[in-house]
Amino acid sequence: MIGFIGLGIMGSRMAGRLLAHGHALIVHNRSQEKAEPLLNQGARWAASPKEVAEHADIVFTMLANPKAVETVAIGENGFLDHLAEGSLWVDMSTVDPSFSRRMAQEAGKRNVRFLDAPVAGSKIPAEKGELVFHVGGKAEDLEEVRPLLECMGRAVHHQGEVGSGTAMKIVINLMLAQSMAAFAEAVTLGEALGFDKAHVVDTLLGGATAAPFLRGKRDKIVNGDFEPEFPLEHMQKDLQLVAQTAFEQNVALPLANAGKELYALAKQKGYREQDFSAIYQFLKDR
Ligand code: NAP
Repeated sequence: MIGFIGLGIMGSRMAGRLLAHGHALIVHNRSQEKAEPLLNQGARWAASPKEVAEHADIVFTMLANPKAVETVAIGENGFLDHLAEGSLWVDMSTVDPSFSRRMAQEAGKRNVRFLDAPVAGSKIPAEKGELVFHVGGKAEDLEEVRPLLECMGRAVHHQGEVGSGTAMKIVINLMLAQSMAAFAEAVTLGEALGFDKAHVVDTLLGGATAAPFLRGKRDKIVNGDFEPEFPLEHMQKDLQLVAQTAFEQNVALPLANAGKELYALAKQKGYREQDFSAIYQFLKDR
C-alpha cells in the first residue's frame, strides 16, 4: 500500500492522480477535512503519520516546509520509526538540500531508503499529472518508484545523489521568485506612467523579456484575483532556503536577499495565503 502525507494544494491533487491510476492509498493530513474528497474516491484514512507507516511500504510526503517534514517524520507519532526496514520514503516537499541529507540520514539509521523528489509546476499541472520531478538519491530507488512519479508528472529527472533534487528545485525557485517580482515592478512602473494595466501586461508578455510562466499569471494580475496556486508564504520560505543554502556554499546572492525581504513584507501585510503573484498587488497598495 502507498502512504501519502500532506494533502494541501499540491498533495491532494497528486494523491488524486495515484488513486485515479488505481493505486491503493492510505492518507494523512494534519487537518482531516482536506482528506474528505480523497476518502470519497476510495483512499483509506490514517489518524496519524505513525498509522500510515503501519500499513505502507512506500510513503510520499508533500508538506509545507522543513519543520513540517521533520514533525511528521520524527516528531510525536511520526512515521519513520514505524516503517518496515527496506521501505522507501519519497519527500516531494520543497526543502533545502542540507535538510534532505539530514532526513536521508534519519531514514538510513532505521534502514529506510530515501529520495528527495520536489516538483516544478503548480496547482493545474498537479491536477493534470504534468509536474516535473527533480530527484536526488539512488538510481535503483528512483527506478522502483518511477511508475508512481509518472502518474503525477510528465518528466522525471535524476539530478544525482541525495539532496540534489532539492538543490535543483531551489535554484529554479530563485528564478521564479525574482522573475515574478521584476515583472510586478515593471507593470507598476508602466501604470504609473499612464498605461492601462492590461496593455502593459500584454506588451511585456508579447516580448522576449518575460519568463514563460508569467503568461499563467496574466489574468490574476489583470483581474486582481490572487486565488492561490502557489501561496506567497511558500515563495518567501523558498527564498529563505535559498539564502541559507547560499550561506552554506559561501555564495553571495544580493538580489535574492532583497527579494526575500520583499516577499516577507508582503507576507506581513496580509498576502500570506494569496498566490505569490500578489507581490504585484502589494507593490501597488503600498
Ligand atoms: P499547502 O497547500 O500550504 O499545504 C501544505 C501542507 O503541509 C498541508 O498538508 C499542511 O497541513 C501541511 N503542514 C504545514 N505545516 C505542518 C505541520 N507543522 N505539521 C504537519 N503538517 C503541516 O502547500 P502546497 O502548495 O501544497 O505546497 C506543498 C509543498 O510543495 C511546499 O513545500 C511548496 O513549497 C511545494 N510546492 C508548491 C507548489 C505550488 O504551486 N503550490 C509548486 C511546487 C512545489 P494542513 O492542511 O493541516 O495545513
